[in-house]
Amino acid sequence: MSKSKVIVITGATSGIGEASAKLLAKDGHKLVLGARRENKLQEVTKAVEENGGQAIYGITDVTKDEDVEALAKLAVEKFGRIDVWLNNAGIMPQSLLSQKKILDWDNTIDINIKGVLYGIGAALPYMEAQKSGQFINISSVAGHVAGPGSAVYSASKYAVRAISESLRQEMAQDKSNVRVTVVSPGAISTNLLNSVTDNKVKAGMEQFYDAFAIPVDRVALTIKQAIDIPEDAAWNEVIIRPTAQQM
Ligand code: NDP
Repeated sequence: MSKSKVIVITGATSGIGEASAKLLAKDGHKLVLGARRENKLQEVTKAVEENGGQAIYGITDVTKDEDVEALAKLAVEKFGRIDVWLNNAGIMPQSLLSQKKILDWDNTIDINIKGVLYGIGAALPYMEAQKSGQFINISSVAGHVAGPGSAVYSASKYAVRAISESLRQEMAQDKSNVRVTVVSPGAISTNLLNSVTDNKVKAGMEQFYDAFAIPVDRVALTIKQAIDIPEDAAWNEVIIRPTAQQM
């Protein structure tokens, strides 16, 4: 277990974000939770406090830079610093390119790519001033392999890896002492499939997830371990797949 840290989580109302908040709370960390649904933010805040952590939340749409900036400011006003920023909010509306689902394309790019950039932009000045910090950016196995139906989602997750690697090198160059970690999960049981808008694609993915998906706390544990290793080292990328998942 590391010292108590101030940890900001986007997409904290469900799945990986929610599970991470609850697990990290047990180590006494201070959680700053961001997502759009206030009732769920309130529930997770309560659960964090019941698990031994402190939490505050800010209603945050990661496609709005002003919301993301406000979340960073909230963390610093309430807890004085930002030690970890978990860029986790994401959607996965997979579809064939021939379907030309432009709204899905735009939302995927806005949430999965721009949301990550806005998070980095908001937290970086604080981390550079502190001369310490860590970004944990959630990519995916789909950020390593593309296939039919995954074009835009995969592109967004490849982008997360590219952005993270550039950030890592910039931070090393500046001797800023800011760590960069990418976590790329395989099939994990969460609500992510609800973001698939095509019913046929969704049915196929549900079959795959029913066969292979592992519980979400496996990813939360990976995130906790990436935070806990000594700060002169960083896991730059972790792929966490179900043991039985081939691709
Ligand atoms: P969930 O659907 O369970 O959770 C998604 C979270 O993102 C919710 O808390 C949701 O909150 C939030 N979110 C969505 N849009 C926005 C937005 N515009 N602004 C702020 N928050 C938003 O999915 P997961 O937990 O599975 O997904 C988390 C991350 O993990 C995503 O980046 C996903 O791509 C990645 N991932 C997941 C895998 C899996 O198999 N589950 C595999 C590989 C990667 P709210 O609706 O309240 O805003």
